Amino acid sequence: MEPLLGPLASLVNPLSVSFPMWLACVAMKEIGLQAADLGVTWACRFLKELPSRTGQRVLYKNQLDHKDMMFLSINSVIEAVFSCHILKMMWTSPLVVRSWSSFTILTGPLALLLIVLLNDMLYAPAHRLLHHPSVYPYIHKHHHRSVYPTRGNIDARNEHPVEQLIAMALWMTAVHISAYTVGLHAAALGTHLALMTTGASLNHAGYDFEIRFLGVDWYSTGAHEMHHRRPDKNFGQFTMLWDKLMGTYIPYLHDEGAEPKKSEQEQKCD
Ligand SMILES: [Zn+2]
Ligand SMILES: [Zn+2]
Repeated sequence: MEPLLGPLASLVNPLSVSFPMWLACVAMKEIGLQAADLGVTWACRFLKELPSRTGQRVLYKNQLDHKDMMFLSINSVIEAVFSCHILKMMWTSPLVVRSWSSFTILTGPLALLLIVLLNDMLYAPAHRLLHHPSVYPYIHKHHHRSVYPTRGNIDARNEHPVEQLIAMALWMTAVHISAYTVGLHAAALGTHLALMTTGASLNHAGYDFEIRFLGVDWYSTGAHEMHHRRPDKNFGQFTMLWDKLMGTYIPYLHDEGAEPKKSEQEQKCD
């Protein structure tokens, strides 16, 4: 089959492969994602459940319906296309350096850190905007069906496709800013892709994991669980730095006395 042609084709088929190969790319991405999620599930055996998941409390867990399955399928394709753009950038973009001799503190670790920070700097206010009452019911409400997500990447990407596109566009913006400022090595870009995939699963698996150094809590799964329990707080995906600046940060609360007001979904379940 002839490769897809035209500007739209280059957007959805950045590697300019045949349609069967494009379908194979979508399938391979899905297999890779499920493998990564299995790895996260395996690693979670060494972690404790978040304290809010323990005890006698009944936790609301939504069942996946047809709308969930439709969004998950669409998002799987969007993710595959985006992954192909990242791979193409790693292999061919003049913005990305590839030789090991060009791997430096700037193009490697600093570029990676910059992408993480910039991505959340862009994502946190956009996420906050998606919670505005005028748009929330139409796009982001779907992701909040689960108050205590446990299904890893299924709960992570169970969101409206428009939200998925916004997140991918912001991610790509962060990647380009990093490439134009400190430079970018292909290894840093690939590492960020892996970190995003793993972190999104961890954020929705229900296990307690945090990365803390230099006295700063850089990442914790409890922070995103707090967002699902208190949707007006903790808008960042991975770091709460921008929430602290926006005044929307809330630390993890686990005991009943500190439990925030229950959501409608939980009340229905009681
Ligand atoms: Zn979430
Ligand atoms: Zn939200």
